[in-house]
Amino acid sequence: LSFSELGLDPRLVQAVAKQSYEKPTLVQRRAIPLALDGQDVLCKAKTGSGKTAAYVLPILSGILKRKSVDSAPSTSALILVPTRELADQVFKAIEEFSAFCVKDIQCVKLTDNVSDAVQKSLLANAPDVVISTPARAWKCVNSSGLSLDKLRYLVLDEADLILSFGYEEDMENLSRSMPKGVQTIMMSATLTPEVDTLKGLFCRSPKVLDL
Ligand code: AMP
Repeated sequence: LSFSELGLDPRLVQAVAKQSYEKPTLVQRRAIPLALDGQDVLCKAKTGSGKTAAYVLPILSGILKRKSVDSAPSTSALILVPTRELADQVFKAIEEFSAFCVKDIQCVKLTDNVSDAVQKSLLANAPDVVISTPARAWKCVNSSGLSLDKLRYLVLDEADLILSFGYEEDMENLSRSMPKGVQTIMMSATLTPEVDTLKGLFCRSPKVLDL
Protein backbone atom coordinates (compact mmCIF):
# COMPACT_ATOMS: atom_id res chain seq x y z
CA LEU A 1 0.00 0.00 0.00
CA SER A 2 1.33 3.43 -0.94
CA PHE A 3 0.47 6.89 0.39
CA SER A 4 -1.42 7.66 -2.82
CA GLU A 5 -3.77 4.72 -2.16
CA LEU A 6 -4.88 5.87 1.29
CA GLY A 7 -7.41 8.43 0.06
CA LEU A 8 -5.52 11.55 1.16
CA ASP A 9 -5.63 14.90 -0.64
CA PRO A 10 -3.05 14.79 -3.50
CA ARG A 11 -1.26 17.88 -2.16
CA LEU A 12 -0.51 15.97 1.02
CA VAL A 13 0.70 12.94 -0.92
CA GLN A 14 3.01 15.31 -2.79
CA ALA A 15 4.37 16.67 0.51
CA VAL A 16 4.92 13.18 1.85
CA ALA A 17 6.91 12.34 -1.28
CA LYS A 18 9.02 15.46 -0.76
CA GLN A 19 9.84 14.13 2.73
CA SER A 20 11.11 11.00 0.97
CA TYR A 21 8.74 8.72 2.88
CA GLU A 22 8.61 5.64 0.69
CA LYS A 23 5.61 3.91 2.16
CA PRO A 24 3.27 4.36 5.12
CA THR A 25 4.30 2.79 8.42
CA LEU A 26 2.03 0.23 10.11
CA VAL A 27 0.31 2.80 12.31
CA GLN A 28 -0.25 5.03 9.27
CA ARG A 29 -1.69 2.18 7.19
CA ARG A 30 -4.09 1.25 9.98
CA ALA A 31 -5.06 4.64 11.40
CA ILE A 32 -5.33 6.86 8.31
CA PRO A 33 -8.28 5.02 6.67
CA LEU A 34 -10.21 4.93 9.97
CA ALA A 35 -9.55 8.60 10.62
CA LEU A 36 -10.55 9.57 7.06
CA ASP A 37 -13.75 7.60 7.60
CA GLY A 38 -14.64 9.81 10.58
CA GLN A 39 -14.11 7.23 13.31
CA ASP A 40 -12.75 7.83 16.77
CA VAL A 41 -9.40 6.08 17.09
CA LEU A 42 -7.39 5.07 20.13
CA CYS A 43 -4.00 3.98 18.93
CA LYS A 44 -1.21 2.43 20.90
CA ALA A 45 1.82 3.95 19.21
CA LYS A 46 5.30 4.90 20.29
CA THR A 47 7.38 7.87 19.25
CA GLY A 48 9.22 6.80 16.12
CA SER A 49 6.32 4.73 14.74
CA GLY A 50 5.10 7.53 12.49
CA LYS A 51 2.20 8.41 14.79
CA THR A 52 2.31 12.14 14.03
CA ALA A 53 1.65 11.69 10.31
CA ALA A 54 -0.96 9.04 11.16
CA TYR A 55 -3.26 11.71 12.59
CA VAL A 56 -1.99 14.90 10.94
CA LEU A 57 -2.47 13.68 7.37
CA PRO A 58 -6.15 12.61 7.63
CA ILE A 59 -7.02 15.76 9.59
CA LEU A 60 -5.35 18.06 7.04
CA SER A 61 -7.08 16.11 4.28
CA GLY A 62 -10.46 16.69 5.95
CA ILE A 63 -9.74 20.39 6.39
CA LEU A 64 -8.79 20.76 2.71
CA LYS A 65 -11.99 19.01 1.70
CA ARG A 66 -14.10 21.37 3.80
CA LYS A 67 -12.22 24.39 2.47
CA SER A 68 -13.03 23.44 -1.09
CA VAL A 69 -16.71 24.12 -0.31
CA ASP A 70 -16.55 26.58 2.62
CA SER A 71 -13.67 28.99 2.96
CA ALA A 72 -14.90 30.77 6.11
CA PRO A 73 -12.11 30.67 8.70
CA SER A 74 -12.71 28.38 11.65
CA THR A 75 -10.66 26.30 14.03
CA SER A 76 -11.26 22.72 12.90
CA ALA A 77 -8.63 20.85 14.86
CA LEU A 78 -7.26 21.03 18.39
CA ILE A 79 -4.14 18.97 19.09
CA LEU A 80 -3.41 18.57 22.79
CA VAL A 81 0.07 17.52 23.87
CA PRO A 82 1.73 17.17 27.29
CA THR A 83 4.89 19.16 26.54
CA ARG A 84 6.19 22.14 24.62
CA GLU A 85 8.78 19.94 22.90
CA LEU A 86 6.07 17.75 21.41
CA ALA A 87 4.11 20.84 20.36
CA ASP A 88 7.19 22.03 18.46
CA GLN A 89 7.58 18.66 16.71
CA VAL A 90 3.93 18.49 15.70
CA PHE A 91 3.99 22.09 14.45
CA LYS A 92 7.03 21.34 12.31
CA ALA A 93 5.38 18.22 10.87
CA ILE A 94 2.26 20.22 9.95
CA GLU A 95 4.39 22.89 8.28
CA GLU A 96 6.11 20.22 6.19
CA PHE A 97 2.92 18.40 5.23
CA SER A 98 1.27 21.72 4.25
CA ALA A 99 4.08 22.61 1.85
CA PHE A 100 1.75 22.35 -1.18
CA CYS A 101 -1.31 23.92 0.43
CA VAL A 102 0.26 26.69 2.53
CA LYS A 103 -2.59 29.12 1.88
CA ASP A 104 -5.25 26.65 3.00
CA ILE A 105 -3.79 25.53 6.30
CA GLN A 106 -3.16 27.97 9.13
CA CYS A 107 -1.62 26.37 12.20
CA VAL A 108 -0.63 27.99 15.48
CA LYS A 109 0.91 26.62 18.63
CA LEU A 110 0.06 28.17 21.95
CA THR A 111 3.03 26.86 23.90
CA ASP A 112 5.55 29.63 23.25
CA ASN A 113 6.05 32.32 25.84
CA VAL A 114 4.25 35.22 24.26
CA SER A 115 2.18 38.07 25.67
CA ASP A 116 -1.60 37.79 25.99
CA ALA A 117 -1.92 40.34 23.19
CA VAL A 118 0.17 38.24 20.80
CA GLN A 119 -1.75 35.11 21.81
CA LYS A 120 -5.04 36.86 21.05
CA SER A 121 -3.82 38.07 17.69
CA LEU A 122 -2.68 34.54 16.79
CA LEU A 123 -6.19 33.28 17.52
CA ALA A 124 -8.08 36.23 16.04
CA ASN A 125 -8.33 34.72 12.56
CA ALA A 126 -9.49 31.30 13.77
CA PRO A 127 -6.52 29.22 12.60
CA ASP A 128 -7.49 25.82 11.17
CA VAL A 129 -5.26 23.91 13.56
CA VAL A 130 -4.30 24.79 17.14
CA ILE A 131 -1.59 22.90 19.02
CA SER A 132 -1.47 23.37 22.78
CA THR A 133 -1.02 21.88 26.19
CA PRO A 134 -4.37 21.35 27.96
CA ALA A 135 -3.81 24.16 30.47
CA ARG A 136 -2.97 26.75 27.84
CA ALA A 137 -5.84 25.65 25.63
CA TRP A 138 -8.36 25.98 28.45
CA LYS A 139 -6.96 29.39 29.40
CA CYS A 140 -7.21 30.55 25.79
CA VAL A 141 -10.82 29.32 25.52
CA ASN A 142 -11.64 31.57 28.47
CA SER A 143 -9.57 34.64 27.79
CA SER A 144 -7.87 34.70 24.41
CA GLY A 145 -10.57 33.92 21.90
CA LEU A 146 -9.91 30.25 21.18
CA SER A 147 -13.28 29.12 19.84
CA LEU A 148 -14.22 25.44 19.91
CA ASP A 149 -17.63 25.99 18.30
CA LYS A 150 -16.61 24.69 14.88
CA LEU A 151 -14.19 22.06 16.10
CA ARG A 152 -14.28 18.81 14.13
CA TYR A 153 -11.12 17.05 15.24
CA LEU A 154 -9.54 16.58 18.64
CA VAL A 155 -6.18 14.86 19.09
CA LEU A 156 -4.68 13.72 22.37
CA ASP A 157 -1.06 12.96 21.57
CA GLU A 158 1.00 11.09 24.17
CA ALA A 159 -2.29 10.63 25.98
CA ASP A 160 -0.69 8.51 28.70
CA LEU A 161 1.50 11.44 29.67
CA ILE A 162 -1.24 14.08 29.59
CA LEU A 163 -2.79 13.11 32.92
CA SER A 164 0.54 12.32 34.57
CA PHE A 165 1.53 15.94 33.91
CA GLY A 166 -1.38 17.07 36.08
CA TYR A 167 -3.79 18.26 33.40
CA GLU A 168 -6.83 16.38 34.73
CA GLU A 169 -8.96 19.40 35.60
CA ASP A 170 -8.16 21.13 32.31
CA MET A 171 -9.12 17.97 30.43
CA GLU A 172 -12.43 17.77 32.27
CA ASN A 173 -13.14 21.41 31.52
CA LEU A 174 -12.22 20.97 27.87
CA SER A 175 -14.36 17.84 27.55
CA ARG A 176 -17.38 19.82 28.71
CA SER A 177 -16.65 22.46 26.06
CA MET A 178 -16.49 20.13 23.07
CA PRO A 179 -19.22 20.66 20.49
CA LYS A 180 -21.23 17.61 19.41
CA GLY A 181 -19.76 15.29 16.81
CA VAL A 182 -16.08 16.01 17.33
CA GLN A 183 -13.90 13.17 16.07
CA THR A 184 -11.27 12.19 18.65
CA ILE A 185 -7.94 10.56 17.89
CA MET A 186 -5.82 9.42 20.82
CA MET A 187 -2.19 8.34 20.51
CA SER A 188 -0.57 6.66 23.46
CA ALA A 189 2.57 4.58 24.03
CA THR A 190 0.77 2.56 26.71
CA LEU A 191 -2.86 1.78 27.42
CA THR A 192 -3.09 2.71 31.10
CA PRO A 193 -6.09 3.43 33.37
CA GLU A 194 -5.36 7.14 32.78
CA VAL A 195 -5.79 6.61 29.06
CA ASP A 196 -9.08 4.87 29.79
CA THR A 197 -10.21 7.90 31.78
CA LEU A 198 -9.49 10.19 28.82
CA LYS A 199 -11.18 7.77 26.48
CA GLY A 200 -14.30 8.00 28.65
CA LEU A 201 -14.19 11.80 28.58
CA PHE A 202 -13.66 12.27 24.84
CA CYS A 203 -14.49 9.20 22.74
CA ARG A 204 -17.59 7.53 21.35
CA SER A 205 -16.74 3.81 21.07
CA PRO A 206 -13.33 4.30 19.42
CA LYS A 207 -11.63 1.80 17.17
CA VAL A 208 -8.70 0.56 19.25
CA LEU A 209 -5.45 -0.15 17.41
CA ASP A 210 -3.17 -2.12 19.72
CA LEU A 211 -0.16 -2.38 17.40
P1 AMP B 1 6.78 10.03 14.93
O1 AMP B 1 6.52 8.62 15.37
O2 AMP B 1 5.59 10.71 14.41
O3 AMP B 1 7.49 10.80 16.01
O4 AMP B 1 7.79 9.97 13.68
C1 AMP B 1 9.11 9.51 13.80
C2 AMP B 1 9.96 9.87 12.57
O5 AMP B 1 9.62 9.04 11.48
C3 AMP B 1 9.81 11.30 12.08
O6 AMP B 1 11.09 11.84 11.90
C4 AMP B 1 9.10 11.18 10.75
O7 AMP B 1 9.54 12.16 9.86
C5 AMP B 1 9.48 9.79 10.28
N1 AMP B 1 8.43 9.13 9.47
C6 AMP B 1 7.10 9.15 9.73
N2 AMP B 1 6.43 8.43 8.81
C7 AMP B 1 7.36 7.93 7.96
C8 AMP B 1 7.29 7.10 6.78
N3 AMP B 1 6.13 6.64 6.33
N4 AMP B 1 8.45 6.80 6.14
C9 AMP B 1 9.63 7.26 6.61
N5 AMP B 1 9.76 8.04 7.71
C10 AMP B 1 8.65 8.38 8.38
